[in-house]
Parts: sequence; structure tokens; C-alpha cells
Amino acid sequence: MLKWLGSLVDSNEKELKRLEPIVDEINSLEPNFQKLSDAELRAKTDEFKARLKNGETLDDILPEAFAAVREAARRTIGERHFDVQLMGGIVLHQGKIAEMKTGEGKTLVATLPLYLNTLSGDGCHLVTVNDYLARRDAYWMGPIYHALGLTVASIYPPQSPAEHLPARLYDPDYTDEKDTRWPHFRPITRRQAYEADITYGTNNEFGFDYLRDNMAIDLSQYVQRPLNYAIVDEVDNILIDEARTPLIISGAAEEATEKYNIFARLVPQLKQDEDYTIEEKERQTYLTESGMTKLERWLRRDGLLKAPSLYDPANYGLNQYMENALKAHALFKRDRDYVVKDGQVIIVDEFTGRLMFGRRYSEGLHQAIEAKERVKIQRESITLATITFQNYFRLYKKLAGMTGTAATEAEEFHKIYKLEVVVIPTNKPMIRIDNPDQIYKDEETKFKAVAREIENLHQQGTPVLIGTVSIEKSELLSDILKRRGIPHEVLNAKNHEKEAGIIAQAGRVGAVTVATNMAGRGVDIILGGKKPEKPKREDFQDEEEWQKELKKWQREEREWQEEHDRIIQLGGLHVVGTERHEARRIDNQLRGRSGRQGDPGSSRFYVSLEDDVVRRFGGDRIKGFMDWAGFDENTPIEHSMVSKSIENAQVKVEGYHFDIRKHLVEYDDVVNKHREVIYAERRKILEGADLKANILSMVRGEIEKTVAAHCGSELMEPDSAGLIEDLATIFPPTPELNPNTLSQMKPKQITDKLIDYAGQLYEQREKEIGTENMRLMERLVMLRAIDSLWKDHLTAMDHLRQQAGLFAMRQIEPIVVYKKEGHAFFESLIAGINYEVVHTIYKVNITVKEAPARRQPQRAAVPAGRKVGRNEPCPCGSGKKYKHCCGR
Ligand code: ADP
Ligand code: MG
Repeated sequence: MLKWLGSLVDSNEKELKRLEPIVDEINSLEPNFQKLSDAELRAKTDEFKARLKNGETLDDILPEAFAAVREAARRTIGERHFDVQLMGGIVLHQGKIAEMKTGEGKTLVATLPLYLNTLSGDGCHLVTVNDYLARRDAYWMGPIYHALGLTVASIYPPQSPAEHLPARLYDPDYTDEKDTRWPHFRPITRRQAYEADITYGTNNEFGFDYLRDNMAIDLSQYVQRPLNYAIVDEVDNILIDEARTPLIISGAAEEATEKYNIFARLVPQLKQDEDYTIEEKERQTYLTESGMTKLERWLRRDGLLKAPSLYDPANYGLNQYMENALKAHALFKRDRDYVVKDGQVIIVDEFTGRLMFGRRYSEGLHQAIEAKERVKIQRESITLATITFQNYFRLYKKLAGMTGTAATEAEEFHKIYKLEVVVIPTNKPMIRIDNPDQIYKDEETKFKAVAREIENLHQQGTPVLIGTVSIEKSELLSDILKRRGIPHEVLNAKNHEKEAGIIAQAGRVGAVTVATNMAGRGVDIILGGKKPEKPKREDFQDEEEWQKELKKWQREEREWQEEHDRIIQLGGLHVVGTERHEARRIDNQLRGRSGRQGDPGSSRFYVSLEDDVVRRFGGDRIKGFMDWAGFDENTPIEHSMVSKSIENAQVKVEGYHFDIRKHLVEYDDVVNKHREVIYAERRKILEGADLKANILSMVRGEIEKTVAAHCGSELMEPDSAGLIEDLATIFPPTPELNPNTLSQMKPKQITDKLIDYAGQLYEQREKEIGTENMRLMERLVMLRAIDSLWKDHLTAMDHLRQQAGLFAMRQIEPIVVYKKEGHAFFESLIAGINYEVVHTIYKVNITVKEAPARRQPQRAAVPAGRKVGRNEPCPCGSGKKYKHCCGR
């Protein structure tokens, strides 16, 4: 690890040296760009685009492009990129991570590479940590892009139930009078947002759009263009902290909860050994003849039996409920296999005895146990689509990131994303004073000391920002402060927009702000608070009123300056950490809130031996040291050895979490390969690939398999009747092939004959329903087979993953089991799709529905001879219920 960091420092110096000549070149171009008229500056974009077409590369035009952006920024928002910001911009263009401290102006840095990379005509994405920043940053930087003739959009999650996939375009010609903050945001569609040159949005929105696109049944529903270039802001947060939970689009499984209850009531009336038997070793139960008869009688009485025998296919569903209920009753014991807590059934880990919160037995067993215990039956949700952030972001042709804290995680960025970290120096020297940690014996004494310190600083006027590791701890501290009568604000990353407003004022005299680490991310804490904005002359018709407003602003500006100067004299913003976080990176982020852009500032962390990270890793050593040194309750210690131990503990935890994430990626890589294949197939289908040849070859394969199964063995009598029966599930039988004729033929002949017949039948159908309809039907049948089986595959892989863990006990690496079995699952997925397509294609019909006024005619493939229930999934594959889709 240390060696790794050592070589990082050397190569970083070299990296920076290499950037210097480029920065010099951009600087030397500046006077020329300053001379350009606005129109000439705007025309540069077209010139660059033309030069790219003529063979120049992005690297060739980088210096001029950056000079153009710098000039546009100076003219529009009044900020001229510093030299270090140009360096950051180059690093981002190179597809690396630029580590730039908080307040160094990363929002502005990103405009350089984003502009450059859109010149090829492909869209670029800027990924923000929250939806507020997705709007703020697009709007804030909007004028720069606009001056250069580019379009910029923002996508964000719905802010109210009425909003569906919201998106806005920055457009100065549009004014929304009601929106005082962002009046020039014109509402657009998601697709339009992706058609813009640059799109700002959160990682979730980008990821979900990708998943939704790959569930679309028509290309026109796609919103994203091919993923070209993305810059991830606060990259450590998105690619490391959030990388542990994948994105999931899920739907509730359709289930009849009442059935669980019925069976839970019936099954206890059966007698063990007489009505059912238990195989303890296999963890299985079996119904006996007598048990079956009883159940059938009871079910018939309740009108639930669709056919006389419980094992009749018509009763298939019931059978499942019965088996689960019996297992739940006879095999699963409360307080051994599971416990019931707060109305929930929680599994007990069979090896460790730990409660496995959030885990559920699969395939209805959990619900059966819930019914047995008479608690609320939770609906199983099924995964329709899922991807990890790791794999989503790896889809981009080029990926870059920026953050204040990346270096400690350089190894992970490199290994998982192949992203190099370059540490960019600050614009002005950093003069914040980081005091050594104070260590207390217990948490209570620690918080008391923190409160005392805050009180002192508050009285003196120094603004204080206090970081906590959880909402709970924030509230604990807030209570203590309330009791002492110290006014303060509490932020916990719930309402990004409101909190942004509060954090912007956290630098005022005497301000006390308690915040969890994500709260107010991306918002600058300015000493003295937000600077008053200069009024605009054009907003005032009346000269007198304008003068009045101008005076008011000048007074406010003076007051702000006085407050600002006073805080500088007080030593700037003081940051208090109330606990060491598990990762050093998060602590550094908190510290980085102070001392920005050369401001004075200070920080200190308070630690207790009861803190999680200390207790779990290395607490004993520190405690031993404190006992040895004879410290009493209230005296804190400040000792480099202790600080070192804590840092070592953090390094250990970081490593531990890295392993977990690496594991997640290893597992996800298996499904990812499947996803790539399936999504690529879907895409080809939507793009109008020739499916006919493909489907006919699937038909050939199925015929060969079926013939082989019935007549393929030399040892056995050919089973003509069985063959005919199976073939009938594919297409209508032909009188030519009957038991008589078949028994005269060799398997090869049968196969050839059948393939011939299948081909003719296909052509005949095509004639009947028309070529265009046949193509449409091929597409719908394929999509439906892929989508429904892919969904099942995801669920199966999920279960497999949970079970693979059990193999760890048997000295087999779970991942090995998972990969091997996963491969088999994938093969059966492909086989399943083939089967499904072949067994549907000869049976579906196209029905053209009368189009309601104004709506496009909709056509759906409906299995012939079968009515679709109104509540069934629509056969067009939309995923909606039939009554809400084609059956409307
Ligand atoms: P970061 O994301 O790196 O923490 P921000 O992008 O939020 O920083 O910018 C911090 C502050 O610095 C903002 O108020 C911004 O206006 C200001 N700033 C950034 N770059 C410049 C510049 N070149 N000239 C003047 N002000 C700048
Ligand atoms: Mg930022």
C-alpha cells in the first residue's frame, strides 16, 4: 500500500510537468481570443468541428478549445479559469480522475473537457451527486456553453408525483416568470435532454434511463444516445460509497396472498406420518395418498380445485402453495430457523445463529411462513432489470472523475475502473491548521467536550461546522446544544436544495452547523455568508428606484466585507469532527470544507474509545496505552501514537470495504456478461435485424432435439406417438407424418422432412398475414421471450448467489460455484428463449385493433385460440397489464 502511494507521488509530479507546456500554450492564445467579437467566439465551435472532420484530433485542438471556453466563461459568468483549473481540465479530458480540493472550482473545470469532447458530435454527461446540483450546475454553467453555441440540459428525479422523468434545457430566450431562481430552464423530454450536447444528471437518473431503454419495445422509446464521455463529480462518492448497492428496477410479483392463508389453515389439520412424511436429511416433505385425498376434499369444498387431482396441471399453482405450506408447518421451526420480530419473519443463519435481516426464503416459502405465523404477508418483488454503478460507468467510451479526495482510494480506482488519479495543486496555498485528534475514554465525555468547544467558539464569533457520522449522532449533539442554549442548524442530506441554502450561510459570524457527511455536498461555505448579488440595471425602468437599489446593494456589500474580514481575523471556519469515519477520505472531505481558496481555517477530530472504528480495530492497544499513561476520565490525550493507531484502523477498514466492493464486482461481472449479450440481442431486434433466418434456425434446432429425444437411440424403440405429440406443441400436425409413415423412416429422414415442413408452413403463414406483419410478429415474439426469461434469469442468479455462500463452508470458493453454475443458467436461458420462440411463432396471430382517435394503431401478438385476461401481462411485452395496454 505504501509502496503504491510512493510511486503515485513520483508519477504525479511527472504528470503535472507534462501538463505545463499545454497550459502555457493556452495562456499564449488568450490575447487573441479576447479580441474576438461574441459572434466570432461562437463561430470557433463550427471551425473546430470542421477541423475535426478534416482529420485533426481532439488533442490537436485542445489548447484552442480551452482558450475559447475560458474566454466564454470570463465574458458570461465573470470567472476566468485559473491555470490549475486548466490542468484539471486536461486531466479530465485524458479520462483520469482529477483530485482538486473543495472550493477549487471543479464545476468550472468540467466545462473545458465537456466542450472539447462534444465537438465530435457525441453527447457528454456530467454526473452529479444529487438532483439539486444537476440543476444548479447546468444552469450556472449554461451561459458559457450557450455563448459557444452548445446546448445543455439537466435531468433529475420527479419533484412531485405529477412530474414524469423531468428534464430542462438552458435557454436564455425562454423565461418562466414563476420560477425566480432558474427562469431560463425550458421543460423538455428526456430524449431531448440526451440529444443536447451536454447533459447534467445524477448517477441514478443516468443508470435508470439506461435500464429503461433496454426494456423498451421500440427504438423510438430509447432516450439515450450511445454512451460517449462522462465526468463524474464527487467521483469517490459515486464510484465507491454508492457502488455497494446496485440499481434495480423491480416490479411487485402478482400473488394471491389469500391462498397462503388458506393453506396455512388447512395443513395443520394433516397428521404426520399418516398424511405426510418428512425427510429430515433432504429437508423435504411428501404428501401421502391419504393426505392428498383430505386436501382435495377440503379444497373442493372451498371451490378452489380446478381439476379433480391436486397434481393436475390445472392445479399447478395450488400445488406450490400446498408444498410451501407443508414445509413451513413441518420443517421450519420458530426460534430455530427463523424468529418473528416486529411482525416480520427473520431468517436465522444456520451456521452463525445471526439474524439475517432483509433476507427472504424464495419461491413463496417465506410467505407461507408468514401465513403460518399470522403476520402480514409481504409481496415478493421481482427484479426486472439491474446493474451496478461499476458496470454502468464502464459502458462509457471514456470516463473521468473529479473530487477533493481520491488519492487514498487510488488503488481501487485503478483496479476496478482503470482510472488514474492525478493530484492537482491548489490555486492558492492551503493554510488551514489541522489540529491533532483528542481522544476521550467514553462517548459521553467526548460529546461534552465537543459541546464546550462549540460554546466557546460560538461566543467568540467563529463559525463552526460539526460533522457527525450518522443522523442519530447529529440529533444527539443537537439535543446537547439545545440544552446549552446554542442556536444551530442541523443538516442530514434529506432536502438537498434547502440544505444548500443553509450551508451557504454556515460561514457567518457565530454560525453553528451540525451536518452528516453528505449534507450540503457541492455547496461552498463562504466566509461571511453569501455575497449580496449586484442588481442588474436592465431590471429597473425607473432611474430613482435603480439608484436606491444600487445604494442598498453597496451598503450590504460593505457589511458583508466587514463580516468577512472579521471572520478572517478569527481564523476562518473551524471544523469539528465528532468521530473518525471508517474511511480517511470522508474525514478529509469534512476537513476540506474549511480553508478553501487560500482562506484561513482550522479543524479537529474528537475520538472516544467507544467509537466504532476504534473499538473494532485497535481499541485495545489504545486503551492499554491510556491506562498505562494513567489518564483519568476527563483529560483527553493528544498523542501521535494514538492518532497513528486510529489511522491504521481506518486503513484496515478501508481494505475490508474494498474487498466487499471487489466481490460485488466479481459477482456482477458474471451477470454483466449475460446482460451484454441479451441487451445487444434486444438492440439488434429493435434495429430491425433479420429475424426470420434466426428463428428458422431455432426451429431446426428444436426439431432436431425433439426427434433425437424420441427416435434418436439405437437401443430403444422409436416413440412415434410421443414425437407427434411433442411436435404438436410447435405447429399443427400434418397427416403425412403419422405413426405409420414415421416407423418406416430413419431419424435423419424424419428430421429433414420436418424441417422442410416447418419452412413451408412458415412461408405459408407469411403469405397469410403479410410480410410486414410477419416481421412485426417475429420481433414481438422474440422480445417477449427474451424479456420474460431474462427477468427470471435475474431472479435465479440472485438466488444462486445467496446459495453460493454456503459453499464457502465446503472449501469451495463461492465465486467459483457462482461462475460455473451461472454459466449453466445462462445456457439454459438461451435454450429457454429458443424453446419459447419456436413454440410461439406458429401459434400467434396479429390482431389489428381499431385505433382510438389520434392514437397510433397498435398491433399486438396474441396467442391464437386463447383470450388474454384483463389482468394478465400484455402479450406485446410492454410489462403493463393487458387492460392498461393493448387491451384498452
Ligand atoms: P468545488 O466543486 O471544487 O468544491 P465549486 O465549483 O463549487 O468548487 O466552486 C467554488 C467557488 O469558487 C464558487 O463560488 C465559484 O464561483 C468559485 N470559482 C471557481 N473558479 C473560479 C474562478 N476561476 N474565478 C473565480 N471564482 C471561481
Ligand atoms: Mg463541486
